[in-house]
Amino acid sequence: MQRCSRCILVDSVPGISFCENGVCNYCVQYENSFRNWDQIKEKKKKDFEKLIESARKLKRNYDCLVPLSGGKDSTYVLYLCSKEYNLRCLAVTFDNGYMSDRAKENINRGLEATHTDHFVFKMDRKSTAELFGTFIKKTGGFCNACMRSINFTIETAAKRFSIPLIIKGSGKRVQYVSQIPGITNSNSSYFFKRVISQSKIKDRFSEIGSEKIGVEFYKISYLLRISRTFLMRYFPQSIGVYDYIYKPYNEIMEIIQDEVGWKRPEDTHEHFDCLLHSIPFYRDTLKIGGITPRTFHNCGLIRQGLMSREEALRNDEEYFRSHNQKPDELEILLHDLKMKQDEFTQFIRFSDPGKFVPRFERLAKKFYRKVYYKK
Ligand SMILES: [Zn+2]
Repeated sequence: MQRCSRCILVDSVPGISFCENGVCNYCVQYENSFRNWDQIKEKKKKDFEKLIESARKLKRNYDCLVPLSGGKDSTYVLYLCSKEYNLRCLAVTFDNGYMSDRAKENINRGLEATHTDHFVFKMDRKSTAELFGTFIKKTGGFCNACMRSINFTIETAAKRFSIPLIIKGSGKRVQYVSQIPGITNSNSSYFFKRVISQSKIKDRFSEIGSEKIGVEFYKISYLLRISRTFLMRYFPQSIGVYDYIYKPYNEIMEIIQDEVGWKRPEDTHEHFDCLLHSIPFYRDTLKIGGITPRTFHNCGLIRQGLMSREEALRNDEEYFRSHNQKPDELEILLHDLKMKQDEFTQFIRFSDPGKFVPRFERLAKKFYRKVYYKK
């Protein structure tokens, strides 16, 4: 088994290759993208400010939309936009019925501290379970169903309120898995529609898969270098805050704890806002040998200089030594899905989500990866 000499990724990870010094392509990619960050960071901040000024000038009801999950990143965006830049924000939340109490608490704190209006689409757990059940059976995962529902909620609110700018708590730098093929699949409406077609939930959830302007559109306009300040007059523009303003996560946590009374999760996982958060990480371990639920995340931290390689290795070793690797929440999900554990494992191991991605989207993604990640 070969292991990257910089992070701790192993050769079983899809799409991985190693250079002559034993460094993996994901580390090289990161290095290439952010080597000159110190030189461009002032310019990036100015770009961000230019975008929000253009949005403000349009004098719509809201200057920007902030997707709010109660997690640290979305709370930080809300704080940054409303407190530091005085933008009129609309916070938007999709609640899949599995939202943790801590996340709900944090959402309320964030809203109260910033005096922000809130748009919510809440699905009943039973509906979510039906949707997730279909996705697990067909694609071996359920996160894309949720991601699509989040995007649907965002797009709906942005359209109804003519909001020019969507500012997400994300960014290339903190996307630990999105560049790894087979780990994250499409969140597009086309993918969603194709998965639920020929199933009994097809009509019930058709609206969620009906968005005409898909995520790919944003990417294409980015690649064509059409100015976002121009486009936002006609189509809401979606950006990830960390592509413009980057701070390490520990600093972010300190800011929001002090400024909006945000409370950190009991465990250290990032997406604690959903009760099911640990299941997709566990799912990855069933699909790829030699990794743990923390491996990708820790590798991201190593690249950002926030964790040592030794600590990440220790973390993985501890996991492999432990006997109970199955997250407790899996019982909750399987109960709601009326699915047996071995059925679940079979679906994860043997389903092929790739077949639901339309050809044009696959090509667009390939092209996009090439330009965006210079891969
Ligand atoms: Zn690496």
